[in-house]
Amino acid sequence: VVSAMCGVTDKLISIFNKYKSNDLLSAKEELLQLYQSHMKAFDKIDLKQKKCIQESKNLQSLFGELIVDLTVKRNYKSWDYDFVISFGERFAVQLLSCALSKLNVPSKYIDSSRLIITNNEFGNSKVLMKETKVKIEEVLFPMIMDGIVPVVTGFYGSTKDGRVATLGRGGSDYSATILAHALDAQEVILWKEVDGVFSHDPQKKGNGAKFLPQLTYAEAIKLAKNGAKIIHPHALDSMASKDIVVWVKNTFKPNLTGTKIWKGIA
Ligand code: ASP
Ligand code: MG
Repeated sequence: VVSAMCGVTDKLISIFNKYKSNDLLSAKEELLQLYQSHMKAFDKIDLKQKKCIQESKNLQSLFGELIVDLTVKRNYKSWDYDFVISFGERFAVQLLSCALSKLNVPSKYIDSSRLIITNNEFGNSKVLMKETKVKIEEVLFPMIMDGIVPVVTGFYGSTKDGRVATLGRGGSDYSATILAHALDAQEVILWKEVDGVFSHDPQKKGNGAKFLPQLTYAEAIKLAKNGAKIIHPHALDSMASKDIVVWVKNTFKPNLTGTKIWKGIA
């Protein structure tokens, strides 16, 4: 499950708002920057070997699609915002797919609007579990059985009538645990930019933030609901019922253990 690159969702929100207020010049400038930063990341992964021609084409046509969408729509509905801000994940899956194919890992890119069905609370939608489970079993199980790694966009799904709906900021955690639940996974790893869960925000100095090596589901849900941005407030909702262990780990220090979220010692 792939989230957008750092800062990209914020940029997309800003671009959307600029289009809405007719600040087109500045919006286009930001779009260009976004395009360039993705191409730069892409070149780094592909190291000019041009192994990922398809993914590079996909990336370009996604930018084309986004620009057309922003240009054509002038009468914005609540769901237009969700569609625009979902592009960060669509871009990022191309990068991960390329990285995997360079490692000779057979993978396939799956758009989460095919898997995750949500209600109509655009911007902060909830997942409809029963409908979603059917889709995941239908699409993902056969792929996994064939040894193919599905690369799925985080952060959004679609409503029953097929509109892209986002799951709230940080929603890729929620996407990941929903998939884990539907697939009966034993564990989920949420890859972050910090070593795990802390008692206070570790990026703010001087608040005595203490690393928490383990938490029960209830303790972690309480932290998330009280505004700890590290975990999406709904990501852990379905984990306790299946005893799925959730790890919060640092992408940049994968050897560190991280924080374990589980039922705790009985
Ligand atoms: N890219 C989305 C956001 O910034 C989702 C996520 O990061 O999980 O909120
Ligand atoms: Mg993110």
